[in-house]
Amino acid sequence: MEISSLKSWFNGFDNYPFIIAGPCSAESEMQVMNIAAFLKATGKVNLFRAGIWKPRTRPGTFNGVGVKALKWLQRVQSELGLRVTVEVASPKHLEACLKHGIDVVWIGARTVSNPFSVEELSEALRGVDIPVLIKNPLSPDIDLWQGAVERIYSAGVRRIAAVHRGFSPFERTLYRNMPKWEIPIELRQRIINLPVICDPSHISGRSDFVHDISQKALDLTMSGLMIEVHQYPSKALSDSAQQLNFAQFTSLLDTLIIRKPTIDDRGFLNRLEELRNQIDSIDYQLIELVASRMNISEKMGEYKFKNNVTVLQMERWLEILRTRTEHGTLLNLEPSFIERIMTLIHQESIRIQTSILNNLKTNEDHWSEEQ
Ligand code: PEP
Ligand code: MN
Repeated sequence: MEISSLKSWFNGFDNYPFIIAGPCSAESEMQVMNIAAFLKATGKVNLFRAGIWKPRTRPGTFNGVGVKALKWLQRVQSELGLRVTVEVASPKHLEACLKHGIDVVWIGARTVSNPFSVEELSEALRGVDIPVLIKNPLSPDIDLWQGAVERIYSAGVRRIAAVHRGFSPFERTLYRNMPKWEIPIELRQRIINLPVICDPSHISGRSDFVHDISQKALDLTMSGLMIEVHQYPSKALSDSAQQLNFAQFTSLLDTLIIRKPTIDDRGFLNRLEELRNQIDSIDYQLIELVASRMNISEKMGEYKFKNNVTVLQMERWLEILRTRTEHGTLLNLEPSFIERIMTLIHQESIRIQTSILNNLKTNEDHWSEEQ
């Protein structure tokens, strides 16, 4: 695929890292102008972002101000000389953006999750020369993400970048969205020259994690960052917990350590490093999974105590061993290896449950003595 580099998108796009910043949502003309003026003054922002049609998980929440904000964004362009980007989810949105001279559009995670919607957008983009940012889909499905890039490319668009915004977790995790760094790394391997920009705001869900995620993205030589910035984050109408205020954004830009990607980054050494980075990411997820398994074990310990069931139940353990080794075999893993892993995990689980049982028992004895 002949993807254009970010540098060639517009004049003045040759800095590294490429920075997209702005509020989650455009809320009022004054809010947009204030934030944009601040961002312009930093001298480090390539693109001003603002959502005007907000895809919300639950109905009844703020769903954006709509087309009237396109005029505010035109003021950002003409009065501040900043280029602007808006999320589009349908051909109608795209048409409104084109009519108002929006510089770049982005396709959000919810839209990318649906190939019908991406196809419709791709048809609407045929013959239109506007850069498109493509966020990852909600689920960690790399083929779906790659497919969206291919669909937009097939419309003739060459100025394309992917945006890594993390993946919906199936249960509560430290971050709002799981980074699963191995996926954007893999996407870069699959589509050579595709710029991948990280959106640490949606990965974090909380402003205090944005710095670490941004640094991680730069350490992985990602092409840039898309960061939510708001003048008064706590008053923001959407994503208030994750937006940075002006001081936080300034300090972020001042403290990030930037390692410029070199031409070497496409060579052998870099491939080794990329594979190591993928392994690192998977190891952390392994540990997180083991931790959630142990949390359930704890709950089971309490349940067993209340119902007077012994901690170890041999039949259940044999069943676990059998099913897990069988599943491992399907994935080409040695049964004896799976057996060793499961035995270790099971021993730890028994240890945790036994100590819970002992604690509960001591409390109960203590309590009955006092009666
Ligand atoms: C956003 O950028 O504000 C947004 C809605 O992002 P995502 O599609 O990644 O959830
Ligand atoms: Mn947002």
